[in-house]
Amino acid sequence: MAPPLVAITSSTRMHGEIERVRLNQAYVHAVEQAGLLPLVAPPLADARLARAILSGVDGLVLSGGEDVSPHHYGAPPRERTDHAHDRRDLWEIALVAEARRRAIPTFAICRGLQVANVALGGSLVQDLPSEWEGAIVHDAPGRASRVHEVRIEGGSYLAEVIGRPCVRANSLHHQAIATLAPGLRVTARAPDGVIEAVEWTGAEWWMLGVQWHPEELVGTPEPWDRALFAAFADACAAARRRRGGPPNG
Ligand code: MN
Repeated sequence: MAPPLVAITSSTRMHGEIERVRLNQAYVHAVEQAGLLPLVAPPLADARLARAILSGVDGLVLSGGEDVSPHHYGAPPRERTDHAHDRRDLWEIALVAEARRRAIPTFAICRGLQVANVALGGSLVQDLPSEWEGAIVHDAPGRASRVHEVRIEGGSYLAEVIGRPCVRANSLHHQAIATLAPGLRVTARAPDGVIEAVEWTGAEWWMLGVQWHPEELVGTPEPWDRALFAAFADACAAARRRRGGPPNG
């Protein structure tokens, strides 16, 4: 039987006059290493196709990238907020709604956590260094460097997966969750109080979001980030069994 199939969202970027689909290989590697079959899903112009794509997969990874347009949480863009990728925003907001409706296991990473929070009704801090009192450095060099502490809430699913109350993680973001969306719970924070992880409160939907980049850390000696992908893989395998037999016969 083929491994569970997982859609990984991606972005597009202009290279001269050519618009290219773009995703860091680290996501593909981490998903493959967890025993899953990765499918790179570009941002489609017709957001209604979110339903079609999720009808054919067993899991969804919301990958990192651009700032979400503040328009989607009713705030004007601030000076340090990126130029929005409107197509990607609309596509991923539709994916989150559909993933929730279908209870597709969803692993939301960095921007992924942010767009999920916005799609579910929350808001974001647009720039930590200028807006968060006492912010530590969250946009730190070194994609695989564990630069700050992440303190995990006891009793959370995240605590169960990671198996310890405090880890160190990489940090490559300048935004964060401001108002938490209904249905989500905070499961980890940085020492300055910035939200570093969330999960869905109901048992019907496996949804875990982290503000750091576990896909860059699966090759480190510490097992924590591999454990996250392994837990996601278990959830995808269960979704696969619910969906029925192998997609290719
Ligand atoms: Mn951070």
